[in-house]
Amino acid sequence: MSKSCIITGGSGLVGSNFKDGIKINSSHCDLMNYDESYNKIKSFNPDSIIHCAAMVGGLYYNIQHPLKFFEKNIQMNSNILKISHELGVKKFIGFLSTCIFPDNLGRPYQETDLHIGPPHDSNFGYAYAKRMLEVKIRAYRKEFGYKYFCVIPTNVYGYNDNFNIDNGHVVPALIHKIYNAKNNNEDLVIKGTGKAKREFIFARDLANICNYLLNHYDGDDSIIVSDSDNEIAIKELVDILVEVSNFKGNVIYDTSYSDGQLVKKTDNSKLKNILENFEFTPLEKGLKKTYEWFENNYEEVRK
Ligand code: NAP
Ligand code: GDP
Repeated sequence: MSKSCIITGGSGLVGSNFKDGIKINSSHCDLMNYDESYNKIKSFNPDSIIHCAAMVGGLYYNIQHPLKFFEKNIQMNSNILKISHELGVKKFIGFLSTCIFPDNLGRPYQETDLHIGPPHDSNFGYAYAKRMLEVKIRAYRKEFGYKYFCVIPTNVYGYNDNFNIDNGHVVPALIHKIYNAKNNNEDLVIKGTGKAKREFIFARDLANICNYLLNHYDGDDSIIVSDSDNEIAIKELVDILVEVSNFKGNVIYDTSYSDGQLVKKTDNSKLKNILENFEFTPLEKGLKKTYEWFENNYEEVRK
């Protein structure tokens, strides 16, 4: 990575896990505000941008706030791309997500499937805003020949995640709930049936892969970043988390909650062709490290 690569969202789960780069977050500039962001980003004279900043949240937060997810992500993405273009930045990575693919396709997702049907209803605001990021990046690439592309990561987890129980994703929310249940001798309550299936990637792996792609990927299409050998049901995820955290209490499934999208399996053959020998962090190991990280940083990250 060059010295003048800016990482937006540098305080978040993905951005904070990059080893190098100039990491910025909302304390440096509000990406909703074009002028403020333009001036701040110009001052760093960047030659590339890895755009991790976004409004992000778990399934239940997405169900509650489709408008906010749509508006904020559309505006932040439009601003950063315009700034990037105005400053002549030639390399740019935008972040999509596997949860924005058409729902219920009946086979593993490929990069070319992105726009062929509506997303799952639970996150349509976020999904359509992200799909427009892909459209805009494609347009910049076609019209100006820039090396701009999107990565499509599967569910991410790791250090510096949003561990909020109400609006976080499943891994950080469950880690926080297990911690509380252990310390207060309470039951662990899982939302939904546990039957939905997901693939997970350790944030550090994702950051390392993006770093490699920034320098070595010249393709003109998005690229799925997942470890598709690792699809598991939420119930299996719960079992691993119970094991690595040594939780001995009762586990209860509250089936009054939605399971969200039931399957999000990906086909990562495009990534594998580029990065043949990448060794993903095994899920159990990554979850254990993340649980320990949460315990060690509890006072700063409990929200
Ligand atoms: P995150 O932990 O929630 O971090 C979000 C980052 O965006 C924070 O650094 C935050 O800064 C920054 N940000 C938010 N609003 C901003 C604003 N108005 N101005 C400036 N900065 C702002 O998110 P993440 O999980 O790392 O996600 C990174 C990217 O990966 C996102 O594009 C997301 O859509 C995508 N993605 C995430 C997942 C996942 O499971 N987490 C899965 C697939 C794709 P502050 O700390 O200052 O608020
Ligand atoms: P998604 O993968 O985009 O749907 O987002 P999440 O990371 O929020 O994962 C949602 C899946 O985890 C659904 O199947 C939920 O039923 C399940 N889940 C179980 N307990 C929780 C919880 O406490 N919080 C969240 N966010 N999801 C949970």
